[in-house]
Parts: sequence; C-alpha cells; structure tokens
Amino acid sequence: MLLKVENLDVYYGAIHALKGISLEVNEGEIVTLIGANGAGKSTTLNTICGLLRPRSGRITFQGQALNGLPAPAIVKLGISQVPEGRRIFPNLTVKENLELGAYLRRDREGIRRSMQDVFRRFPRLEERQKQMAGTLSGGEQQMLAIGRALMSRPKLMLLDEPSMGLAPLLVQEIFNIIKEINQQGTTILLVEQNANMALSVAHRGYVLETGRITLQGKAAELAVNAAVKKAYLGG
Ligand code: ATP
Repeated sequence: MLLKVENLDVYYGAIHALKGISLEVNEGEIVTLIGANGAGKSTTLNTICGLLRPRSGRITFQGQALNGLPAPAIVKLGISQVPEGRRIFPNLTVKENLELGAYLRRDREGIRRSMQDVFRRFPRLEERQKQMAGTLSGGEQQMLAIGRALMSRPKLMLLDEPSMGLAPLLVQEIFNIIKEINQQGTTILLVEQNANMALSVAHRGYVLETGRITLQGKAAELAVNAAVKKAYLGG
C-alpha cells in the first residue's frame, strides 16, 4: 500500500469539513474520489499534501507518517499535487513554470531529462515554452499544471478536478494523458465532479458526501451502482 488515510478530521474554524475519512491507495492504482460541490474532496487532497492540518487522524505514505510534515517535505517524499484551477504562474513562461516544479531537486541532468519527458508528452508545451503561461488556453494550462507536477518525479500524483472548465474533447484528451501517466508507473488519486470520466479511468473509487465516505468499491461496480448513477451520473 502506498497511501493510507485513517479517520481524518479536518476543520475550517467551526466548520467540520472532513468527518473521519479513511481511504487507501495501492501502488499502481488510479483511485478516484467523487462527490458533489463542497463534499470535502479538495480538503482531502490539501490535507494529504500538507497544506491543511488535520485535527485528528493519521496519514501514512510508504509506511511513513506524514502528519506534521511541511508541504515541501511531502513533495520530497514523492507526492505532488495538481491543484484545482491549475494555479500556474501566469507571468512566468511555460519553461519557468516547469522548472519550478523541480525546485526541490538538485540533479541538473535529471531535471533536464524530466523536462524532455514532459515536452515529449506535451509537444504543445515545447512549442510554447517561451510563452507566458497566462496566455495559454485552458487545456494547455491544465497540461502545464500536470507537467509541472511531473517535474518533481512523484510516486503519487494528486489531481484536483482536471476536467474543470474544459470542452468535452479536451476532457477526453486529459483523461487519456492521466491513464498514460499511470501506465508509466505513477499512482494517481483523482478528484472529480465528472464522475463518468473518473470512474471510466479509475481502478477503485470512493464517494464523499458532506465530509464522509458513503460508498467505496471497484470503479466498474460504482459505475453501475444505482445510488451513484442517480446522484452523480445523471440518472
Ligand atoms: P468542490 O467540488 O466544489 O471543489 P469539494 O468537495 O472539493 O468541493 P471542499 O473544497 O473540500 O469541497 O470543501 C469542503 C467544505 O469545507 C465545504 O463546505 C466548504 O465550504 C468548506 N471550506 C473549504 N475551504 C474553506 C475555507 N478556506 N474556509 C472555510 N470553509 C471552507
């Protein structure tokens, strides 16, 4: 098992956002977390990567406790997040954004190779490497955010709503890329409102409702579950 989250409780002031969340991600999997707006999906990812502190509960990655570690230390251990809304640096070039993804690495030659890998995967980023990232299209910005996360060579990638705001064809393209990245060895925890797409690429899934996991199982089983269909798959 790569990641284990046990009984996580997270608050924003008086708001109890996560109420005893437990989940597991095994090496090589794509696991998806689906749920409506405000269910606590982003909060879960932000707690795993150290941006939020849980009030109680335990997070372990490759057997090591993450609780209390600062976010950069968690990146160094091999967890990298692609945040909701991409959060690229609009006034830096594409190349500079990618370089920032490797800011904790010191192996120059390795960084150069990672950059080449990213450019091989995303030729459009290579063509636009000197362009200001803020002038990229939405789909290109999502590719840049994924590329930036890959620059830290993560074992586990946390992806927050990669399909948000993208046209259907681009959504398909981004999900194909997610599958490829997984097939090449990166484990993925994927948060999505587009439950159809998420369940089509994932191995397993968890359904989150107002801070609690209400259902879990194989993605193929969740996709045909009557309650999931009714609430998240449009009937
Ligand atoms: P969405 O799909 O809309 O992004 P989500 O499932 O990712 O939703 P979260 O963003 O994790 O949900 O929010 C969970 C709950 O915590 C919501 O009720 C939200 O209003 C609340 N919340 C999130 N961030 C904050 C914050 N900074 N301060 C106060 N409450 C917050």
